[in-house]
Amino acid sequence: MSRQALAAELQTAADSYQRAHVIQHCAVCANPCCRLDRLVLELNWKQVKVFWQLDESRAAFDRRLASGKGPEEIRAADGLYFAHRKVCPAYDETQQSCRVYDQPIKPVGCSDFPVYADGDCLTADLRCEAVDIDTLSAWVVDALGPETRVVQSADRDFPFLVSLSVKRRGAKPQARARRA
Ligand code: SF4
Ligand code: SF4
Repeated sequence: MSRQALAAELQTAADSYQRAHVIQHCAVCANPCCRLDRLVLELNWKQVKVFWQLDESRAAFDRRLASGKGPEEIRAADGLYFAHRKVCPAYDETQQSCRVYDQPIKPVGCSDFPVYADGDCLTADLRCEAVDIDTLSAWVVDALGPETRVVQSADRDFPFLVSLSVKRRGAKPQARARRA
């Protein structure tokens, strides 16, 4: 199997795991990631403008932010914005749900969290209480077949990030039938 095909299958496995084990748990999560008390939300200007309901220009907002008069939970860097330590404005605390869940404005990182696929590797963020790393490993083997080997390793600096490195042995060539 090519690396590309393996990456595509891993992405599919990650998506189906999220649907089966994570998304349905969000409504009853004891510590929702959307409160941003542990996670940092990466945003582009359009997302900031919509979520914080701004009617000023980007330049005016940037000046306000730089002068310390902007939303204290937002930092700007490298053309992007990072929100932390206050509940995401798109989060509905009562329903425990995202108000922009199915909309293109939703940040990409929100859809990926807590399982990220990258090439032949999946990374799970165990700060999400719905993720169980052994269940995820078994899910990958189930999805990719019994010849799949999964090796777990925790990040040295951020041990809540656990990588699953996936290898798949090629199928053995079938023995040719002997001619009589
Ligand atoms: S931490 Fe996990 S279960 Fe909780 S709201 Fe976020 S994605 Fe859902
Ligand atoms: S955009 Fe939605 S999913 Fe993302 S942090 Fe805000 S409420 Fe949560």
